[in-house]
Amino acid sequence: MITLSLAEIAEIVGGQPHDIPDPAVTVTGPVVIDSREVAPGSLFAAFAGERVDGHDYAQRAVEAGAAAVLAARPVGVPAIVVDDVVGALGALARAAVERLGTSVVALTGSAGKTSTKDLIAQLLQRHGPTVWTPGSLNNEIGLPLTALTATAETEHLVLEMGARGIGHIRYLTELTPPRVGLVLNVGSAHLGEFGSREAIAQAKGEMVEGLPEDGCAVLNADDPLVRAMASRTKARVLLFGEAPEADVRGEKVRMTPDGRPAFELHTPTGCSDVTMRLYGEHHVSNALAAAAVAHELGMSASEIADALSEAGSLSRWRMEVTERGDGVTVVNDAYNANPESMRAALRALAAMGQARQGDGGRTWAVLGQMAELGDASLAEHDAVGRLAVRLNVSKLVAVGGREASWLQLGAYNEGSWGEESVHVSDAQAAVDLLRSELRPGDVVLVKASRSVGLEKVAQALLENS
Ligand code: ATP
Ligand code: MG
Repeated sequence: MITLSLAEIAEIVGGQPHDIPDPAVTVTGPVVIDSREVAPGSLFAAFAGERVDGHDYAQRAVEAGAAAVLAARPVGVPAIVVDDVVGALGALARAAVERLGTSVVALTGSAGKTSTKDLIAQLLQRHGPTVWTPGSLNNEIGLPLTALTATAETEHLVLEMGARGIGHIRYLTELTPPRVGLVLNVGSAHLGEFGSREAIAQAKGEMVEGLPEDGCAVLNADDPLVRAMASRTKARVLLFGEAPEADVRGEKVRMTPDGRPAFELHTPTGCSDVTMRLYGEHHVSNALAAAAVAHELGMSASEIADALSEAGSLSRWRMEVTERGDGVTVVNDAYNANPESMRAALRALAAMGQARQGDGGRTWAVLGQMAELGDASLAEHDAVGRLAVRLNVSKLVAVGGREASWLQLGAYNEGSWGEESVHVSDAQAAVDLLRSELRPGDVVLVKASRSVGLEKVAQALLENS
């Protein structure tokens, strides 16, 4: 981050210095919320969480070299005391990014934010020093922490923004005003909290409302609710997708026999072929979105195509494909799930299975609950169970409680699946079953919402291979 004195920080955040012998002492970064990550010159932001209160670690942070603590109350060591530590962290990030003048790319959407953010980062890195959100730290704490890692060298700051309600994206875009704002899609993630897809569109569209006139709204031409956001911005609109009107377009979109997207990339600067390393057809849309951002920031079609063809995932548990020594392939997509991403992952599983059919391998969908779907939950789980049948997945292993039984019910209703689907109570039961059943050539997809923690299944299958 830029170097700021404690006096400057206190002014920026409107805080009260306590126990600070020398206000000219500077914070050279990083700003951290975990005292174990403190380095000399750090600012330690203390939060009162449900189980742990950061204020209890203030002393330790200062002993480890923190210049001061950002806190909600005096803590007996150098501190800047504020009413609202989250708000203060945001204000600090806003001031830091403003002073650096770094160009911000922000993105949101129901599914694919992290995957697309990782792609954008890999594209822009070829163009200039880039800082991006690690993993999915996309909320009012993670975003400022990421923004505060930008330095004078940083040319591009790529920030994932998550919304759990109306006003969230607005808050985040006001902290780090983007010049390029991307909206990927409006799906049914968090439908339970928002109530309707229109409400989700309302919330995600806040991304483009604050864009400046010389900014760029990058919108999905293939998603009507996203496309309609064009009327909510004064910025220039750049469309991406497979629709003919898209400015950055994928043509001749197909999957390689083992399930990786390939397409012709058309941008206003030319056309070039892409064959991705990432698996799953949902990455077509993510790649086109990333390409549109890269185009906007001056990259040519061929540069973009090369970078997309080489890009891997930077964040774990998203379609991580590992082949075991015995020829069983494990696809760990257990980071999260919603109806759209379940369908995308199932289709990828089916494609991989087809590519390996000659080996006599089978496809296993080990699936758990999709959380936060509200009233739509039963129907959505039922639909996923049915899709597994229609895609000719060999076996469905539904893991967990009520929602898992709905997955199984869908498979039963669609294809009278009996033996082909199994309902087990938890991850361990799934592991036990798979260990005894798997044979060479099989492909196993593991996927559920974050709260299910189904990555344990994938990890266990890979540990003892
Ligand atoms: P979160 O809200 O949890 O941060 P996210 O929007 O960052 O999620 P990713 O982490 O990129 O999304 O992907 C989550 C899941 O969605 C993954 O399982 C992935 O396979 C799937 N997915 C990724 N891109 C898309 C897309 N464009 N459409 C549908 N599903 C997708
Ligand atoms: Mg994410």
